[in-house]
Amino acid sequence: MAYILGNEPLLTLLFSSLRQNKVAGCYVLEGAEGTGKLTVARYFAAALMCTHPNADCTPCLSCPACKNVLSGGHVDVTELRPEEEGKRIPVSAIRQLIAETHLLPTQGDWRVLIIENADHMNKEAQNALLKSIEEPSPQTVFFLLTDDLTRLLPTVRSRAVKLKTEPLEDRVIRSVLAKESGDFASVEEAVLLCGGSLGKARSILCDKDLHEAREKVISYFKALMDGAGFTKLSLILPPGNMNRADLGRVLPMIKIALRDLITARYSNVKSEFFTDERFRRDLASIISPASALRLFELIQDLERAVAQNVNIFSALSGFHLTAKKLTQSSHL
Ligand SMILES: [Zn+2]
Repeated sequence: MAYILGNEPLLTLLFSSLRQNKVAGCYVLEGAEGTGKLTVARYFAAALMCTHPNADCTPCLSCPACKNVLSGGHVDVTELRPEEEGKRIPVSAIRQLIAETHLLPTQGDWRVLIIENADHMNKEAQNALLKSIEEPSPQTVFFLLTDDLTRLLPTVRSRAVKLKTEPLEDRVIRSVLAKESGDFASVEEAVLLCGGSLGKARSILCDKDLHEAREKVISYFKALMDGAGFTKLSLILPPGNMNRADLGRVLPMIKIALRDLITARYSNVKSEFFTDERFRRDLASIISPASALRLFELIQDLERAVAQNVNIFSALSGFHLTAKKLTQSSHL
């Protein structure tokens, strides 16, 4: 399989700059999680390090230099990211990174510095970086990866070439997964839930708990079709038998399903939960948008309560009581 899929416009731009010898000193790659920011940065870094590049300057992907870059282990390609998810990148880490830019590359002609979650640099760290991208060392390329460009300082943004990564199209993900798995229904489910990220689609495909949770939510909506109203929620959310991890899987799914039901009535918005469009429309015909929205809000309240460490049993019991009242008042 090709190493890189999608993001063609961005890659065309990057590689034409390489062919014209106009590689910039700093690129910002902005895009949602799973849209290939790190993949693009590594692929371009591999092109700079490759000992046998193709005629169009793309990397061969098989020489030791390419392999090292793609696995994150090339001596002239430094990757920096927060030590833990949600943590800041400290100014000390940026200073260390900048010190490296003053050294000559060890193996090739270039030095590449990739900062993941670049928006996790505080102001001090970004200011420390500023001088290096203002007056870049020759043959040095920075890649700042972020899902939100606006969280970078305007001074940093203005000195970088700004590029956007886009989610993969469903058909691309579907065709890749279909070659890896014979289970058509699970592939469709993964395509639907992955938000255009092949990596996420693959992990969904392997995630048994997630698959089970989805089956449960679907069974619930089937019961709802039989006139059970929201009372049957207690079957998939039994107060005495749920932990935080279970809730973390099931509640977001119910919300996505409800959103699908609300949008089914008013527009041709693509479903994000239901693989069966007809089932979605049938359900939407018996659950009013107002009821779906009310249940959506109840689930949000429940999520907040769970996040605040409220006792799960009592939070769920309260939730079911309110859902029951909602069923009665909305004549489901
Ligand atoms: Zn190579």
